[in-house]
Amino acid sequence: MLEARLVNISALQHFAFCQRQCALIHLEQVWQENYLTAHGRQLHERVDNGEPETRKGVRFERGVVVSAPQLGLTGKLDLLEHHKASNQFIPVEYKRGKPKTNDIDQVQLCAQALCIEEMLNVEVKQGALWYWQTRKRIEIEFDQSLRAQTHALITQVQKLFKLGKTPSPTTGKHCKACSLIDICQPNLTEHDGSNRYIAELFNMEAE
Ligand code: SF4
Repeated sequence: MLEARLVNISALQHFAFCQRQCALIHLEQVWQENYLTAHGRQLHERVDNGEPETRKGVRFERGVVVSAPQLGLTGKLDLLEHHKASNQFIPVEYKRGKPKTNDIDQVQLCAQALCIEEMLNVEVKQGALWYWQTRKRIEIEFDQSLRAQTHALITQVQKLFKLGKTPSPTTGKHCKACSLIDICQPNLTEHDGSNRYIAELFNMEAE
């Protein structure tokens, strides 16, 4: 794993949203902002730029860069709390919207916890998600099931990166919220069978 390319933690979110989007951003280095991504970026910048401080026995470090070569992950944490009395490290991730119907935010947070565990050789038992839209903090426990789910997703993203090939579009409602829709052109790409035709033609000739 040490010599393999490190996966950015943000790629887990992108992969869960759309594998093609993940490949466009992380393999092809394509990026385009829309309202949603711009708002999310501003929120993260505000949080990340805060000064470190200690209050009531808790140290707050913002914009913490992590790198875990054994795990194959790298990334940046919005906030890391260190509760000194219990020696507990708690990653906190700020989200623009409200809690999702799937577990991807929990998985992303767990990936952060796994990085801290590898870097500091400690056990990180819980973290927290803070949602801008609802102004609520939700505590998340890193149980075995969430850890297994996180490892499985990391492996899937690593496989995609190793393959180095951008998947075809999978059109759906998610495309409407995708900042890359103009670049991806999902309807054109999905319905344009010329690539497939050429590939099939050459396969047939090789047989
Ligand atoms: S437009 Fe749709 S298919 Fe294309 S990258 Fe975005 S979500 Fe994926």
